[in-house]
Amino acid sequence: MDAISLAGAYQGIKAAKEILSGLFEQKVDSEARPKILEAQAKLGDVQDALFVLREKLSELQQERDELRSQLVDIQAWKAREQQYSLSSTVGGAVVYQFIGSPDHFACPSCFNRREVHILQDNHNMSGTFRCPGCQENFPVKQSRKIPSGRTIGM
Ligand SMILES: [Zn+2]
Repeated sequence: MDAISLAGAYQGIKAAKEILSGLFEQKVDSEARPKILEAQAKLGDVQDALFVLREKLSELQQERDELRSQLVDIQAWKAREQQYSLSSTVGGAVVYQFIGSPDHFACPSCFNRREVHILQDNHNMSGTFRCPGCQENFPVKQSRKIPSGRTIGM
């Protein structure tokens, strides 16, 4: 049952109550009067129940729309997530690697929050890449640091 048919039922009951009111105003015998009042009260109860149902239906429809929207978001994320695989780089970082082209890595912390931030090369000797999302650095490439205890060219 949708909101429109609930409204129709509500109007039908309202009309029935009005007919009963009309009957009550006419000359009816004293035995019929309490029965008319009882019928009106019961119709009033049904009207109240329909009103509650209509409110509940509206809430459920809103909830359904929100869930539908969340489902669309989840499906979009699933499709994007499948384009990456968790991998270990030569520098020892564990990051998400794009399966397609161009080759790139994505930040695992941001990935877990359903955000893809492509790691950017810092172009330094330590071979780190930086996440533009959370600013974290990852040792993606092999470090080119000179081992300690040695001096250069002197
Ligand atoms: Zn990040």
